[in-house]
Amino acid sequence: MKSIQVRNPRTGEHDYEFASASAQDVSVVMAEARRAQRAWAALGLEHRIKALADWALQLEAHGRDIVAALAVDTARHRISEEELGAVIHFIHGFCEAAPEVLATPFRKLDAHPDIVFKVTYAPYPVVGVISPWNFPLVLSFIDAIPALVAGAAVVIKPSEVTPRFVEPLIRSIDAVPALKGIINLVRGGAETGAAIVAQADAVVFTGSIPTGQKIAAAAAQAFVPAFLELGGKDAAVVLEGSDVARAATSILRSALYNSGQVCYAIERVYAHESLHDALVAELVAQARTLRRSHAAGDGGHYGPMIFAQQARIIDAQLDDAVAKGAKIVLGGKSETVDGAVWIDPTIVTGVTHDMALMTEETFGPVVPVMRFTDADEAERLMNDSMFGLSGAVFGPDTHTAGDFATKMEAGGVSINDTELPRVMMFAGEKTAFKKSGMGGSRYGSTSIMRYVRKRALLANEGSVPPLDKLAEV
Ligand code: NAD
Repeated sequence: MKSIQVRNPRTGEHDYEFASASAQDVSVVMAEARRAQRAWAALGLEHRIKALADWALQLEAHGRDIVAALAVDTARHRISEEELGAVIHFIHGFCEAAPEVLATPFRKLDAHPDIVFKVTYAPYPVVGVISPWNFPLVLSFIDAIPALVAGAAVVIKPSEVTPRFVEPLIRSIDAVPALKGIINLVRGGAETGAAIVAQADAVVFTGSIPTGQKIAAAAAQAFVPAFLELGGKDAAVVLEGSDVARAATSILRSALYNSGQVCYAIERVYAHESLHDALVAELVAQARTLRRSHAAGDGGHYGPMIFAQQARIIDAQLDDAVAKGAKIVLGGKSETVDGAVWIDPTIVTGVTHDMALMTEETFGPVVPVMRFTDADEAERLMNDSMFGLSGAVFGPDTHTAGDFATKMEAGGVSINDTELPRVMMFAGEKTAFKKSGMGGSRYGSTSIMRYVRKRALLANEGSVPPLDKLAEV
């Protein structure tokens, strides 16, 4: 049995190990999930909602252990608590929305008054869920919960980089007998993930573009749908007349949250030449007030990087940018202290699109700022990207910024703030543009519909058309 050693992001030590699930192990879990799912779907929505509500209570009851393990996985405490709260919120939100979303009343066909019909929903039996390390708990369940509500069973593979939270989480699931075989967690790396893709009836993946492309190809081979939530390189455009202090705070909040290890972090800023220097000065002044956090509750703002290899990518991007003429005006490359890898808030000027820092995902606390002279140039620059996850536009008023925002090739654009799509969770939809994803919206209560097939039932309540109709052909 292959075992995987796991690094502790606070100490750099490999202090945890787990047995990686083989393709054979995945087959056993899949068979059990497929068997259990028939009863889960037959249970009916009301009872599924009840079972998930029971689980929400168990998540709270086991919350301390789950958060403690997640805090070791990710070197952060408050965000781990937020992750647990978010999953409980998703359970309640999707359960509340489901009766309306999944309602299937009989309707009349206007063109054929004798015929009544309804569309019924058949869940994909087993949905495979593969998730990354930056929000290990939330991203394992943000898509799993609507699938469960729809009547599917799930087989989830969290990232091998952050696997500690899985043990206490399984204890919370085991406490709800109705969920046996319905929520399944398997641990492992790429091979385990590939085995899930090969055997699931539908796949939802959150992670990088290169892995997403492999999963899309494997899903095509298996002939199952793949919903892909991939990387981003979100742009913030600061138009002439913007409130510079407000823009700086909002950009930093997005770029530095979770040390930039966020798909929708602002990773490039385009500032109108009239306010470029003032914005850079404001970004630097505000970022200087932030401190490293060495322990929960010590008042610090950011922890060490979760995945040490990511720091090498960030360092390489900064080296490349500086070699091509960029200037680091705050922060800089990574620093390893007692095994932990730190990157302080970093502001870079003099950047161009010849630099990887402006075109590839950074996934770190780095804010490169580029000057533009007119709106056409800003539009060209913000859309000169293979990514299209989300972004932000700052302007003198909602109307001006909003007009410009409609030109951004991205699935969610915040106006005079950043990260606003997060607050829309159940209310609206957004889809990724370009290579940032594929397969409909995970936002909005209608994301439940990703996990069902539609079966139309039609009844003729009138007479059957006579055979001489054939003669009319
Ligand atoms: P990754 O693509 O390296 O890995 C993600 C998951 O895929 C892991 O569980 C990994 O074990 C698994 N995997 C790897 N190869 C596989 C294969 N061939 N078949 C099946 N599974 C395989 O991503 P990561 O480094 O863990 O996460 C960071 C990336 O995730 C960034 O690109 C980030 O932007 C993206 N992300 C996107 C969103 C979003 O909602 N769009 C959210 C968070 C993170």
